[in-house]
Amino acid sequence: MCDKCDCNQDIEQLFKNNREWVDEINEADPDFFESLVHQQKPEYLWIGCSDSRVPANELVKMDPGTIFVHRNIANLVNSSDMNVLSVIQYAVEVLKVKHIIVNGHYGCGGVQASFNENNPDLIDHWIRPIRKYLVRAKKELEGLSEEQKLDKLCEINVKEQVRNICHIPAVKNAWKKGQPLAIHGFIYAIKDGRLHNLKVSVDNLEDAEKRLFRS
Ligand SMILES: [Zn+2]
Repeated sequence: MCDKCDCNQDIEQLFKNNREWVDEINEADPDFFESLVHQQKPEYLWIGCSDSRVPANELVKMDPGTIFVHRNIANLVNSSDMNVLSVIQYAVEVLKVKHIIVNGHYGCGGVQASFNENNPDLIDHWIRPIRKYLVRAKKELEGLSEEQKLDKLCEINVKEQVRNICHIPAVKNAWKKGQPLAIHGFIYAIKDGRLHNLKVSVDNLEDAEKRLFRS
């Protein structure tokens, strides 16, 4: 630890918070941690943005052990990203989650970056799929204010990721086998803490092909 700044104190705060959190949980349910040791059986896989203002478990008031979580900038599901593909395969085939939720948020900086030209190289590469959605949605975004355009593109981005998930072999195989599995698109508003359902849920291969597999 260095002695030139407050980093010791910053880090110590986390351990202090952790001790308080453990005490609070033990007080409410003395068996809580012991029961978590024996199994992980979440019903949900949550794919959200890395944004620090959009914490997965907290905003849906769910305990540890209930949600398998993957987060990245702008909640993207790219078919070349081994990280997210592995998470989805594990969640579907091993944990057998019943729901996969793509959760975007209004005002997303990652989505915003698709409007900009001067992004850091890697960010620019990462958000390239969103630029595609932006070009495709040009007509839909016409006449909207800058803020409205961004929010609309945040919604479109979530819907596109729901569609991408429907293409993933682990998901298609689960549906072929009759395994219960639904994909959902949600969006969160940082300004009031409310979560909204974009109502693009898909729970079988036939619907996925009909509604989502555009050419
Ligand atoms: Zn974001």
